[in-house]
Amino acid sequence: MLISKTLRCKVFNPTEKKSQLLNHEYSNFQIYVRTGRDFGIYSASKATFDFRYKRKARRKKQPLPLNHHFSKFKITNHKLTPYWFRIPVHGKRGGIWLPIKPHEEIDFTWEIREAKLFKRKKDFWIYITIRKEVCLKTSYSSVLALDVGEKVIAAAVLSSVRKPIFLGREVRGIRRHHAWLRKRLQERGLFKKLKEMRGKEKRRVELVLHEVSKEIVELAERNNSVIVLGDLKGIRRDDRGKRFNRIVNSFPFNKLSFFIEYKAHLEGIAVVKMKEHYTSKTCSRCGEEGKRIKQGLFKCPNCKYQANADYNGAMNILKRSWKHIFQDGAVAFSPELPMTEQTRAEAHNI
Ligand SMILES: [Zn+2]
Repeated sequence: MLISKTLRCKVFNPTEKKSQLLNHEYSNFQIYVRTGRDFGIYSASKATFDFRYKRKARRKKQPLPLNHHFSKFKITNHKLTPYWFRIPVHGKRGGIWLPIKPHEEIDFTWEIREAKLFKRKKDFWIYITIRKEVCLKTSYSSVLALDVGEKVIAAAVLSSVRKPIFLGREVRGIRRHHAWLRKRLQERGLFKKLKEMRGKEKRRVELVLHEVSKEIVELAERNNSVIVLGDLKGIRRDDRGKRFNRIVNSFPFNKLSFFIEYKAHLEGIAVVKMKEHYTSKTCSRCGEEGKRIKQGLFKCPNCKYQANADYNGAMNILKRSWKHIFQDGAVAFSPELPMTEQTRAEAHNI
């Protein structure tokens, strides 16, 4: 399976000459994007743009695409930065080598794909897509099921333990705090500050998502489990009730599942996505339709089962995953373990 990621690299202190060439190439390209007139752009960049983006007049600035056949990495012991990247420009044979600072260490076992040149204020940035082939494990000894929570980002259950694991509690707090802050800033007419805060909230939530996904993948690694996710996209339109809207609005679940999938694949762990509909209403013990009686509590009128609602959802995903994974035939693992009284009690108390 191929996985890819983007390296964000800042072009770091280019010389006057290189800076000029970059500016030239970039602004000529913007003219080409707007008007279709070519005042000198490297031919392959132009061709890539025409091919990928179907050239038509646009008002907005576009990043300059750099074809990977003409770009190259170099690692040096230069005092400025060890990383250098060659990009082709019009009128300079062999292109130019640019010193770059990537946001993370570059692992050269990855293959370089296309790159894009951005200009922000006076700085140039190169976003480089790199990819790698990974092999996913085909045999697991347990299942790690995950449901989107209402109170927490994710509720997880391990088939071998059956103890609920709640992750990302802090997101609710962050959201609430920022909502409060926004209101105050609005009241006082501090709009510039308001704009700044928006980015801050996003970054804080993203940080939690990275931590949560890391924790989940480590858990799966330790227990040799395949990860099963409830997939919100699988919910049919008519099943999208209040709960769906609430979750979609308050939790960036797509981002979380993307992070989990990505990190899991890096470790060779498979991720199965399951349609999530009904998991919140179904009783995980008897399968009848139950109710969320109050926030965070699930109650079944049929068998009187009562538990944390997020946990109940994760249990449903776990139960359904057995069937699903066996059908696939790709994964083999130990038989289902019964839930003990103790873990059941723990599930109730959270
Ligand atoms: Zn029941």
